[in-house]
Amino acid sequence: MKLESILAQIGSQAEPVTGAVSYPVYQAAVFRHPKLGQSTGFDYSRTQNPTRQVLEKAIARLEAGDAGFACSSGMAALQTVFALFSQGDHLLVSLDLYGGTYRLLERILSRFGITATYVDTNNLRALEENYRPETKAILIETPTNPLMMITDLEAVCGWAKQKGLLSIVDNTLLTPFFQRPLELGADIVIHSATKYLGGHNDVLAGLIVTKGKELSEEMAFLHNSIGAVLGPQDSWLLMRGMKTLALRMERHESNAVKIANYLMEHPLVEQVFYPALATHPGYAVQKKQSAGNTGIFSFRVRDARYVEPILRHIKLIAFAESLGGVESLMTYPAVQTHADIPEEIRRKVGVDERLLRISVGIEHVDDLIADLSQALAAAKREIEEERCNG
Ligand SMILES: *Cc1c(COP(=O)(O)O)cnc(C)c1O
Repeated sequence: MKLESILAQIGSQAEPVTGAVSYPVYQAAVFRHPKLGQSTGFDYSRTQNPTRQVLEKAIARLEAGDAGFACSSGMAALQTVFALFSQGDHLLVSLDLYGGTYRLLERILSRFGITATYVDTNNLRALEENYRPETKAILIETPTNPLMMITDLEAVCGWAKQKGLLSIVDNTLLTPFFQRPLELGADIVIHSATKYLGGHNDVLAGLIVTKGKELSEEMAFLHNSIGAVLGPQDSWLLMRGMKTLALRMERHESNAVKIANYLMEHPLVEQVFYPALATHPGYAVQKKQSAGNTGIFSFRVRDARYVEPILRHIKLIAFAESLGGVESLMTYPAVQTHADIPEEIRRKVGVDERLLRISVGIEHVDDLIADLSQALAAAKREIEEERCNG
């Protein structure tokens, strides 16, 4: 079945008693046993809850995996997956990484003796050089955020397999509608479902999908033991958002492509980082391994002084963190989302004080371009006036 149909019908045929088309919220923590030695399949909601189970089966199917696990946030999903590792283990991790993942690795997992090296995961030579006997896994974001670096998943997961490493892919930015890493050789997929999967900036959630019986059983053990699970109400809200994922991703992409092209031509903009553009270094790989492009990208303005007035003058586009919702948001990665990454690493990657990131929503693209246009014009005017007066 096509993904659009799976998405639209999440849970709609799962309730046999009443035939409810919207799967009910089982707001229960505890389930009665019929008799000694018998269970309805549900005992206690940390282990499993009917509403959460429908969501977990859906994400496993969408990602072509064997098991799905819903967590209370994207960070909870990452923490649960990192619990696969032990003291002394080492990970290879994408260089331009989500700030929260970097913070979890450097400030918390490091205290448990788990270390990470940050490398350009698309560079096999760099991976080889940083590989150690104690390396256990590779964690990839593709595209990365905010600089949209692309990793060839088939090549890199193939390399990891040869070395006996687990390949973990954070697929938040593309969702299974556009990219399915497990089909390209990954073992585990992670999502911050707070972003595109939920899609409405109203629910915080994380998802894990595993491939293989042994790994799926191990993850079920960790998910239940750690307990950072998603509640039934939020599981329902997430499924409700996911039903429209296909439509939303198509609109996010088409709007983002038009806005990226508009910004490319703008005199205040020096560079646009978006893999949908043929000028992007990852264009060919992105095109090969995914069915579409994310709705977020970054651009660098010619002068850092433009940043403050642009953020002050945008009206329709909100100055806010996060991404992947129906509303357009703009953020300043160097001081917001990536503030926890040391300046030296940020600069090495290219997250500097002239970089802005936009998460393009599903509003009409003409209104979004008009908003950007007036904000950029106002910024230009203010800086010119400053120059005249100074
Ligand atoms: C937001 C985000 C996370 C963290 O998810 P939360 O739901 O905010 O906990 C992890 N990875 C990526 C790529 C993200 O964008």
